[in-house]
Amino acid sequence: MSWLLPLSYILSGSLFIFSIRGLASPQTARGGNLLGMLGMILAIAATMFSPLVSDWLLPFGVILLGGMVGTYSALKVKMTSLPQMVAAFNGLGGLSSVFVALAEIISGSRAYLDNSIGLIIGAVAFSGSMVAFAKLQGLISAKALVFKGQQFLNLVLAVAMFGLCGYFIWSGDLEIFYYLAALTILLGVLLILPIGGADMPVVISILNAYSGWAAVGIGFSLNNVLLIIVGAIVGASGAILSYIMVKAMNRSLLSVMLGGFGAEKQGSTSALGQDKTARSGNPQDAAFIMENANKVIIVPGYGMAVAQAQHILKEMADDLHKSYGVEVKFAIHPVAGRMPGHMNVLLAEANVPYEDVFELEEINREFATADVAYVIGANDVTNPLAKTDPGSPIYGMPVLDVEKAKTVFFVLRSLNSGYSGVENPLFFAENTIMLYGDAKKVTEEIVAALEQNK
Ligand code: NDP
Repeated sequence: MSWLLPLSYILSGSLFIFSIRGLASPQTARGGNLLGMLGMILAIAATMFSPLVSDWLLPFGVILLGGMVGTYSALKVKMTSLPQMVAAFNGLGGLSSVFVALAEIISGSRAYLDNSIGLIIGAVAFSGSMVAFAKLQGLISAKALVFKGQQFLNLVLAVAMFGLCGYFIWSGDLEIFYYLAALTILLGVLLILPIGGADMPVVISILNAYSGWAAVGIGFSLNNVLLIIVGAIVGASGAILSYIMVKAMNRSLLSVMLGGFGAEKQGSTSALGQDKTARSGNPQDAAFIMENANKVIIVPGYGMAVAQAQHILKEMADDLHKSYGVEVKFAIHPVAGRMPGHMNVLLAEANVPYEDVFELEEINREFATADVAYVIGANDVTNPLAKTDPGSPIYGMPVLDVEKAKTVFFVLRSLNSGYSGVENPLFFAENTIMLYGDAKKVTEEIVAALEQNK
């Protein structure tokens, strides 16, 4: 029966691979999720019934506790808080690699190299993810936290870390292993602190990849095929996502991995004069302008997610199209919201047809031919300073050219800046009309006006 465990692991590894494949498209995502759950159940059952586990009480207790925390999070955490939940769970994945490596070394394992790899990557993933969690949850400022000599300090710590690691591999001294863990945890914190809000999407996906590679290291030290397979899947898919994000943000992957690439330059967050005033309108005017338009492009952002305005937005789009013959399209920026694919998920939930949803590079040229850009709860992803101000922390990030539309509506509650902390000069542009209020409420009033005007 010794073949049963590896066979079950290979089967569950295959289920994870098909699961990822399913998750690649909204139509097959549910099926993908189910396959992933099946893979996990199989992996747990195979391990529990294998000779690896002699005492059932502790593993069962831990699974029960973890399952309760997971179920509670799944039921209670709001869609808008998912990114910080992902960051926290990433961190826990990293931490478990740290603990497994420690347990292995304490119990006399001589796989010094594999355990060091698991420890180092896991510790960075853990402490970095905790900082990312704190930033996303608003526990600490989302802005880049920079101090003089930071890069140099990071370099010194990194050299010390590699030195300690080498010494540990040579000596196998447990005390050194503890120092290595502490130093690496500190380095993880220092690497993520200087990264500004706008660049968090890249950080999250990189930390995700780190937690996967940490599991691979641990998989080798435990000689566990499944950990190696699953770790490699997480590591590789996280790396691919990081690459996609880096491309979307027009950044360099190396500078992200070394940390501090999003550090703000002095005086760059506020590019606006004090005396400018923004023009505001009401939902009735907006309804009138949109029903007389030929083409309306809707740009959703984080505020739409907060307000849960996707359903009423779909109703507005349907009304404009069916009752007034307006061509309506949705434009999605790759980092709109607070997690990759955030807007796609919400629009899919509201049954917006996929063929009406366009990525940035597909639609950007169309703003020039649009009568209206209806920007709902989006801010950073439209900020033109990304194109014009080399001193801005968002400089270089491709943005949606909403200002090229004849009229731009911004549905926001105030003139505050977006997540990056950079003020948006478009609020004061000649063709911009601010529609102040909660995104759902404002859109509801527009829909009511559209109904009335029929
Ligand atoms: P922003 O954070 O730039 O702007 C969101 C806007 O929504 C704010 O100006 C806010 O203004 C407004 N808002 C909030 N609640 C409501 C509401 N109930 N009704 C109406 N408006 C509301 O969002 P974007 O989507 O434009 O950009 C995303 C930002 O988040 C980028 O900087 C990106 O880098 C970052 N990020 C993205 C991640 C991802 O993976 N997608 C992950 C982490 C960070 P006000 O409060 O005045 O209403």
